[in-house]
Amino acid sequence: MTATADRLPDPALVVLVGSSGSGKSTWATARYRRDEIVSSDALRGVVGSGPHDLDASDDAFALLERIVDARLGRGLTTVVDTLGLDDVRRGRWLAAARAAGLPAVAVVMATPDEECRRRNRERDRPVPAPALAGQLKKARAIRDRLDEEGWDVVHVVEPSGRAVESTPERALGSTTPERRSSQGLRFVLQVSRFPWGEEPAAWLSEIAVAADDAGFAGIALMDHLIQIPQVGRAWEPIPEPWVTLGLLAGLDTGLELGTLVTPVTFRPPGITAKAAATLDALSGGRAFVGLGAGWWDREHAAYGIPFPPPRERLDDVETAIETMRALWSAGTKAHDGERVSLPETTSYPRPAHDIPIILGGSGDRTMRIAARLADAVNLPSAVATLDQKLPLLQKHAEEAGREVRVTVLDLPVIGRDRDDTWARVERLRGSTPAGQYLRRINAGTPAEQRDRYGALADRGVESVFLAVGDLEGPDDVERLAPLLT
Ligand code: GDP
Ligand code: MG
Repeated sequence: MTATADRLPDPALVVLVGSSGSGKSTWATARYRRDEIVSSDALRGVVGSGPHDLDASDDAFALLERIVDARLGRGLTTVVDTLGLDDVRRGRWLAAARAAGLPAVAVVMATPDEECRRRNRERDRPVPAPALAGQLKKARAIRDRLDEEGWDVVHVVEPSGRAVESTPERALGSTTPERRSSQGLRFVLQVSRFPWGEEPAAWLSEIAVAADDAGFAGIALMDHLIQIPQVGRAWEPIPEPWVTLGLLAGLDTGLELGTLVTPVTFRPPGITAKAAATLDALSGGRAFVGLGAGWWDREHAAYGIPFPPPRERLDDVETAIETMRALWSAGTKAHDGERVSLPETTSYPRPAHDIPIILGGSGDRTMRIAARLADAVNLPSAVATLDQKLPLLQKHAEEAGREVRVTVLDLPVIGRDRDDTWARVERLRGSTPAGQYLRRINAGTPAEQRDRYGALADRGVESVFLAVGDLEGPDDVERLAPLLT
């Protein structure tokens, strides 16, 4: 397959092919981190007197092979910066990528021969002209054969090709009034850690104002009683969300405010209905309720809250939705429904708008409940998971004769560029092996993240709840702004 796509698979094996002076090292260093590039020249410098010490070639290549194997074995992107003209070596790297389950990319420099000669002449230590002529001839022959070698992508770098990918800049005020990105997605900042130091209210207010400025459509708070191990330490603060959302409702923002997700076990559903209706009244119709079955036995035990088996909790989800809707509906009439009977539904203040209920979870029963009763279902953001779950949801929704919107929870690591992104991964992953961490967390530059979000938008996802592990302050919210354009 020949690809001219801007974006290459990642992680991947990337093998450069081209003569001296064709621009291989320049291309690689503009796109990859230094440690991702394995260069025979650089290794000659490590084990020999310098990059041009040909006597050190055997040792340099022995090291190169070990590094390639070690990185591929860990599923890490590996860019092989050699001439790439040796058929046996190319074949071995390709096989190693296959064995590691990584896509293999050949990157061919299409720099004209004359330009390679000119650049070579200008070098401190030019390759002798006959040697360069031999390289150019060989490079031409290989270029025509690469398609048959079995590479997943053969990427041709045209001489005029862009050397560095640019990150789209966000023009102020570019978000529409509905706060959708150009890809049609709404982004909601999911706050799950609260490193607020000595000033909780100030910290929360700054985060919310920054999110509003950045173009987020809303803020969602996690609803837990003890900080969960996936996010932080048990002794870190985790505030009661409905009280906290009340503070945010008092700020001058247009943010939607809600939880992702409130376990049905924590409060009788009438109390959640009351809290959400109050929030909706205070915020002028900006409340939403994320609802789930709950999963963490420890926090229930610690707070003396019953934690029934899954089936019962899912029954309770149905009961909760029915109760909330009954209490939010107009008037005070008695409710006699499928699971719930209430002698009256007197609930004031009334919500200022129809409060959406987003059901979290991806089990089959959850999706059936969502299809029948919820406004939206919140799924994991992995495209493979969506491709598996969405047809089921669609089927249930058709049976129920309803439409249910789809939101996703996305856990990205996003830096300003590739170096910054990787530094954050190294810091955030703790003792989790990098490969395992990267399967759960989507690490990438803003441009790479946008490619991923495009795939979500293509699948009809409406909103993305964005949860980042390194949300320390308003600067970190601002860092996410490029995603929202
Ligand atoms: P390699 O031998 O294939 O690794 O080539 P290098 O990347 O070291 O590039 C050789 C020379 O060409 C260097 O002086 C680079 O600055 C220059 N060069 C590389 N790529 C480009 C390019 O896209 N445009 C221009 N004008 N010069 C380039
Ligand atoms: Mg080079």
